[in-house]
Amino acid sequence: MEEEEIGKQPKPRSKKDVASGRLIDTYAAQCEACHKWRVIDNQEEYEDIRSKMLEDPFKCEKKQGLSCEVAADIDYDSTRTWVIDKPGVPKTPTGFKRSLVLRKDYSKMDTYYITPTGKKLRSRNEIASFVEANPEFKNAPLGDFNFTVPKVMEDTLPPDAKIGSPNGTTTATT
Ligand SMILES: [Zn+2]
Repeated sequence: MEEEEIGKQPKPRSKKDVASGRLIDTYAAQCEACHKWRVIDNQEEYEDIRSKMLEDPFKCEKKQGLSCEVAADIDYDSTRTWVIDKPGVPKTPTGFKRSLVLRKDYSKMDTYYITPTGKKLRSRNEIASFVEANPEFKNAPLGDFNFTVPKVMEDTLPPDAKIGSPNGTTTATT
């Protein structure tokens, strides 16, 4: 599977579910040159890589002390569930937190933003009204709030994952 230009985020399936779904556990990016996966330390760094991925693809050497000669940090396989992000999604505006949750049935992910005041915002409209009501956040560019969700990689789902609706239709992937 070649998804090379894309940053991505695997989730371990060993961890018991948070009541409403699964959260991202590990961030990783794939080297453009050798296609090895490198674990990225935290969300901020990961978002930085993802936001610049198109004009500045990730390479092993961007991680301190690493080169393409070093074995991969992590392998793309079904020991964990992987979701693949779209490259170019902007960095989360300062003070806000972007959260991704994998639905319990593995059908898809949901994105929301948490405001500096702890409020959950689930759509662009909610963001717009929040900024309007709280002018101190006016300098957070609206275009930097992005609700694009990563693609859930079906070939990495646990064998017991139920995809699709109860009537048996399967969720289409693009
Ligand atoms: Zn490399």
